[in-house]
Formats: sequence, structure tokens, C-alpha cells
Amino acid sequence: PAGAGPLPAPAGLPGGMLTEAEAKRLLAAYGIPTTRERLAADADAAVRAAEAIGYPVALKGVSRAVVHKSDLGLVRLGLADAAAVRAAFAGVAAALERAAPGTMEGCLVQEMARGGIAELILGARHDPDFGPMVMVGLGGVLVELLRDVQLAPAPLSPADAEAMLRRLRLWPVLAGARGRPPADAAAAAEALVRLSWLAADLGPRLAELDVNPLVLRAGGEGGIAVDARAVLR
Ligand code: ADP
Ligand code: MG
Repeated sequence: PAGAGPLPAPAGLPGGMLTEAEAKRLLAAYGIPTTRERLAADADAAVRAAEAIGYPVALKGVSRAVVHKSDLGLVRLGLADAAAVRAAFAGVAAALERAAPGTMEGCLVQEMARGGIAELILGARHDPDFGPMVMVGLGGVLVELLRDVQLAPAPLSPADAEAMLRRLRLWPVLAGARGRPPADAAAAAEALVRLSWLAADLGPRLAELDVNPLVLRAGGEGGIAVDARAVLR
């Protein structure tokens, strides 16, 4: 029917919950580094994917019905050979069948992010009152416990992004407190700027997007998004 309905979704960008791999393709389109990865429909395909990517790999169950994969035993890290990949595929498939029957879309096989010294959470959403917003904070399992996050409207300048990082309680750790190596804060700031443009461009279509974690390496060595989830309208 004619009339002022919602804009059609751009091709290849469905509404609803995206899978990790789909959310990361959105990040990659904005130049945010993501893990090399392949979706595998069965254990043989998972082994082929691992061989193409190079061992060790991570393997994760894919289901749009699941929010926290590791809580359900759906994340297997540091798989060093074909036997480990096969065992992980079988274990993840069984765990997913118990937790959310009939929702498995395969397993995602990905490179292991190595050399990380800090894990950040990056978020973006379209707020009905404030418009596109971005968030950055201490990532990993401590995020809900410590609530060390900073929020700002998108898009951000590089200086805005750096100022948000400096306001975190985590900042002295990123900067290299007590003889620790400093983390690549410039890479974190750049990822935040890029995410802010993604949020500004998608506008109200972006219900929410989280990168958790962005694994940060030492200064000059960059950072990489190892997990992401997104909901589009
Ligand atoms: P969840 O859905 O539980 O958040 P994640 O994909 O974030 O699942 O995996 C849980 C944790 O495992 C991450 O916070 C990170 O510490 C680690 N991890 C996940 N994928 C990788 C990877 N490719 N390389 C290194 N560590 C990873
Ligand atoms: Mg995660």
C-alpha cells in the first residue's frame, strides 16, 4: 500500500536481532577491525574454516535467541587442532539444542585475538530523546558490576573520543599505571569515532549495538572487536 510507512531496509541489512557475524560486518564496513571468521554449518565445515583461518581458533554457537553465549557454554577458545574443533562443534550444538532448541544457525569459527591487555565495551544506540549516542567503558565480565562507562552524543570528533576514554576510572590502567604496558588508547578512540559515525548514519534504525569486548593490545598494536551484537529496527 502507498503512504508514509517506514523506509525500506537497505539491501542486506535486515531488521531485528543480528548475529555476531552480521553485527561485525556492519562494524567492518565502518573500518573497525574485527576477527577473521567463517560461519560453518557442520563439523567438517568448521575444520575447513579453522584450517583457512589458522589455528588456534575460537568457535561459537550462532543463535538469534541467545544474548550471553558464554553463560550457556557456547564459546570455546584456543582450539588447537581439527579434533578440538570437532569436539567443540558437537559440544556447542548439544548445549544450544538444550538452551534454545531449533534456533542454531551453525557455528562461527574465528581467529583468536592474542596479546590483549585490556577489554573495552563500546556501545551505540538511537535514543528517542537524545538521538544517536555512543558509550565506552570497561568491558568483559566486570561491566555490569563496576558500571565504569561514559556516554556522549554521536558523531564524535577524535578529541571527544579521547576525552571520554580519559574520564573512565579505567584510564590509568589503559595509560600504563604501575609499570604495566600502556594499551593502544588511540586505536580505542578511533574505533569509538567510527562507531559514532555508524550510529549517526543509521539513525533511528539502530536500536542498539554493543561491542563486548574490543580487545586492546599494547600501544601501536591496535585493537579488535571479538564479539558484537546488534538490534535494528
Ligand atoms: P558472550 O556472548 O558470552 O559475550 P563472547 O564472544 O564475548 O561471548 O566471548 C566471551 C569471552 O571470550 C570474551 O569476553 C573474550 O574474553 C573471550 N573471547 C571471545 N572470542 C574471542 C577471540 N576470538 N579471541 C580471544 N578471546 C575471545
Ligand atoms: Mg561478549
